[in-house]
Amino acid sequence: MILKTRLFVDQPVGLNQSFELNSDQSHYLLSVLRLSDGNLIGTFDGHNGEWAAELHQISKKRVSITCKEKVRAQQNPPDLWLCFAPIKKARTDFIVEKATELGIGTIIPVQTDFTNSERIKQDRLQAHAREAAEQCGGTYVPEVTAMHKLSDLLKTWPEDRFLLFCDEDQVGTQVDFDALPRGKWAILIGPEGGFSKAERTRLNNMLQAHSVSLGPRILRADTAAVTALTLWHHRLGDW
Ligand code: SAH
Repeated sequence: MILKTRLFVDQPVGLNQSFELNSDQSHYLLSVLRLSDGNLIGTFDGHNGEWAAELHQISKKRVSITCKEKVRAQQNPPDLWLCFAPIKKARTDFIVEKATELGIGTIIPVQTDFTNSERIKQDRLQAHAREAAEQCGGTYVPEVTAMHKLSDLLKTWPEDRFLLFCDEDQVGTQVDFDALPRGKWAILIGPEGGFSKAERTRLNNMLQAHSVSLGPRILRADTAAVTALTLWHHRLGDW
């Protein structure tokens, strides 16, 4: 069963589980989509697959839904992190949305030496990830973490996680993606100003890091994120 309308709920879905939806979700179903009692929508909680759920109007402006049947098994993306330096709002939103569509485990905004934006709205980015999962048929919603300083993140970097260091200084070199090992990975994308010399030295000294070029031209950070995710998935991911 393919359900066009899909909503994320932050409570466990399961047979006969009922949820009162919040006012935004209720408004969307009643006033935007003009759905009514008995209509079916898809719902998922990020862990327990997708369920067909029946809509009940409980007041003029509020609806609840009841899970009737599991229509899709849970599908988690590979254990991949995207670490990126936030840029302008719309472009940062784009990165979160596209990473969710392409398949990402965790999204980690990082503050680098030349990061353009020092603050992020974590809740808003998390909402973008939820909406992207609703749109793309995903059953998993990546966590968007708080902003981490790149230097702190590298200090406690897990020994068993490889790092695809997308380095604009590698432009013009050839990368053999086929030679990259399988396992847990993270992708690192820098800000508009690129990485500092100190950061590059630090990263190049990490055993887990593989520095790569993303082609012969310098990409904007949002393009670089989509490109790196595509290349990674093609070789090491679940496509
Ligand atoms: N101001 C920098 C470019 C930064 S582009 C310069 O002129 O050199 C933003 C980020 O995208 C970079 O830090 C890098 O992580 C990634 N990126 C862009 N183009 C790339 C390429 N061709 N190869 C590898 N990484 C790239």
